[in-house]
Amino acid sequence: EERLIDGAPTTTDNWDAALRPKSLDEYVGQEKIRANLKIYIQAAKARNESLDHVLLYGPPGLGKTTLANIIATEMGVNIRATSGPVIERPGDLAAMLTNIEEGDVLFIDEIHRLSPQVEEILYPAMEDFQLDIVIGQGPAARSIKMDIPRFTLIGATTRAGLLTNPLRDRFGVIERLEFYTHEQLARIVSRSASLLKIHTAAVGSMEIAKRSRGTPRIANRLLRRVRDFAEIEHQGLIDQAVADSSLKRLEVDHLGLDHQDRRLLFVIIDKYNGGPVGLDTLAASISEERDTIEDVLEPYLLQEGLIARTPRGRTATPLAYAHLKRELPGSAKQ
Ligand code: ADP
Repeated sequence: EERLIDGAPTTTDNWDAALRPKSLDEYVGQEKIRANLKIYIQAAKARNESLDHVLLYGPPGLGKTTLANIIATEMGVNIRATSGPVIERPGDLAAMLTNIEEGDVLFIDEIHRLSPQVEEILYPAMEDFQLDIVIGQGPAARSIKMDIPRFTLIGATTRAGLLTNPLRDRFGVIERLEFYTHEQLARIVSRSASLLKIHTAAVGSMEIAKRSRGTPRIANRLLRRVRDFAEIEHQGLIDQAVADSSLKRLEVDHLGLDHQDRRLLFVIIDKYNGGPVGLDTLAASISEERDTIEDVLEPYLLQEGLIARTPRGRTATPLAYAHLKRELPGSAKQ
């Protein structure tokens, strides 16, 4: 079952490309990153050099891929996009690196999932723009060095801590993407609505924004779903009431939590008495992958102050109790 409230792309997200901003000025939010990148890009262009390697990290759907494409456009170079698990053998990466042009961007999504052998090839490539390739096999094998064009590696990952130190150390620019504010998401929703020719009132965009978990991809996805309700039942206009009633029917609550988030919170509260409960226990209790909890569910719940991380595990905060209308332990009325 595909989850509505998931920052990761799904098979029905192919309209995504149409909504992608094409320049830094069109890119909403992430002010600090945009300001920094503008300087780095300008400086690199003035020196006629390739841009330093860039690592972008943060939860899925916050705009890492979009930013990588924008960087290439602003640098006036081509982008080759791939992802960690797709590059199976060192030779796959070597082939890519020998086929790019001076200054081009190589974008590797999920860069933390590169195999150690592929990573090994990447070190000298990033540092000295050289490939160390082994030719032949057994005792006849020998290693040759080969120059490759100076390129810019842009890596994307959900958590910087997933990268090995030697890989992380080879990025000149490391930027963390933040969750978006309601105002920024409302701007994104309005922009997408006008591109998709969907009729929205400002309050309707804001209602969708508030329930999008700080994530542009989710905002765009909810907009599309709400449009269906608006067109069939409300003559096509998305106002606050339509947004609210549609999102209720989609079981997205006013904080943007869906049944999976609520299930996680209920387990901590009801089964583990508010916690602390370890991540693996939690994963088993809700039959969810540990990584999904850490990458998708948890960051937003932490940011909203609904759960807290302690050395002994996760706890539900008083805010979570209030949100789910559960009584805080120890606060029972006398
Ligand atoms: P990530 O690579 O971090 O998973 P994407 O770059 O694929 O996320 O972004 C998902 C979608 O969200 C994009 O297709 C784009 O439409 C929208 N989006 C992301 N960031 C922004 C932004 N800053 N401004 C406007 N739209 C954005």
